[in-house]
Amino acid sequence: MAVIRALSPELVNQIAAGEVIDRPSSVVKELVENSLDAGATRIEVDIEAGGARLIRVRDDGGGIHADELPLAVAAHATSKIGSFDDLEHVASMGFRGEALASMSSVSRFALTSRVRGDDGAFRIEVDGGRLHAARPAQHPPGSSVEVRDLFYNVPARKKFMRAERTEFAHIDDLLKSLALARSSVEFRLGHNGKPVRVWKAARDEQAQLQRVAEVLGEDFPAQSLRIDHASAGLHLSGWVGLPTASRAQADAQYFYVNGRLVRDRIVAHAVRQAYADVLFHGRHPAFVLYLELDPAGVDVNVHPAKHEVRFREQRLVHDFLFRTLHEALAQTRAGLGAPSAA
Ligand code: ADP
Ligand code: MG
Repeated sequence: MAVIRALSPELVNQIAAGEVIDRPSSVVKELVENSLDAGATRIEVDIEAGGARLIRVRDDGGGIHADELPLAVAAHATSKIGSFDDLEHVASMGFRGEALASMSSVSRFALTSRVRGDDGAFRIEVDGGRLHAARPAQHPPGSSVEVRDLFYNVPARKKFMRAERTEFAHIDDLLKSLALARSSVEFRLGHNGKPVRVWKAARDEQAQLQRVAEVLGEDFPAQSLRIDHASAGLHLSGWVGLPTASRAQADAQYFYVNGRLVRDRIVAHAVRQAYADVLFHGRHPAFVLYLELDPAGVDVNVHPAKHEVRFREQRLVHDFLFRTLHEALAQTRAGLGAPSAA
C-alpha cells in the first residue's frame, strides 16, 4: 500500500517554483514587478553569468518593515489583495504571494529593505527554503533582492538553463518589455559588472517615443502612427507601425493591458484584422499599444505567469481595438501613402 504524506512546506514551494520560475528571466520579471508595485522610480538590475550566478534587483520603492520580512518570503503571503473581491479588481502586477517564496526555495536568496523614514535597513537570508533570522544592514530607502546560484538544489531544473548569452538575451528582452510598460521609471541593466542599458525616466511623449525607438529601432518613429482613442471605458494609446515598418517575424509587438504585457487571442485577432488589407501575407506589424480599462473588466488570474488575461466583454474589446486601428491605418489604405509608395 502507498503511504499518503503531507509534503513539507519547502517541497511545496519548490514544486510551485516550477510554475513561475523556469529560468533567470522569470526571476527578473517577478522582482522588477515587485519593485514597480512598490512604487519605485528607479530600478537597477545586475546580472552575473546570465543570471545563473547572481540576479540582483535594487529599487527605491516603499520598502518592507523588518517584522514583515519573513512574511514577504512566506508562501501565499501578499500585501496586495486581502479578499476575493480584491481579486476581481487587481491593479498591481503581483497578487499571488508566491514569487519570493518560490525563488527563495530554489536559490541562495537575500532580501534587504528599508522603509523611508526608518533609521536603518534589515536583511533576511533564505538558503534553499531555510529562513535565517533578520539582521540589521546598510541600505538606502527601498529594497534589494539577491538571488544567487539559481536551481543549485534542483539539478533537474538547472539542466534546462541555456548558455549565459542566451539567458542574458532573455533577460534583456524582458527588460525592454518592462521599460516600455513604464516609461516614467528609470531602468538600468548590467551584466558581469558592465552597464548594458540605461533608460532614463521619460517625462513627456517625445521622451517616451525615444524609449520606444531604442527598443523597436531608430526608424520606427518616422514609420509609425500615434494612437490615442477612448470610448466606452476603454482607452487605447501608443504607436502602430506603418506597413513599411512591418517585419518577417512577429518580434516587435508589445501590447499592454493596464501596464501588463499580454499575449491574447482576442487582441491578436483584432490587430491582424485591422492590418489585413495593408500588409502582405507573411509580414507582421510592429506596435507598442497600451489598453487601459477598469481592472474589474479583465481577469488576470488565468495563469501563474500572468501572460494571459480574460476580458469580461471580449466582443466589445475586440471591436474597439479593430475599429481604432483600422481607422488609424485608413490613410495608408486611401492610396495617399500606399504601402509600396511610402
Ligand atoms: P506578490 O507580489 O504576489 O504579493 P511576492 O512573493 O512577489 O508576492 O512578494 C510578497 C510581498 O513582499 C509583496 O506582497 C510585498 O508586500 C513584499 N515585497 C516584495 N518585493 C518588494 C519590494 N521590492 N518592495 C516592497 N515590498 C516588496
Ligand atoms: Mg510579486
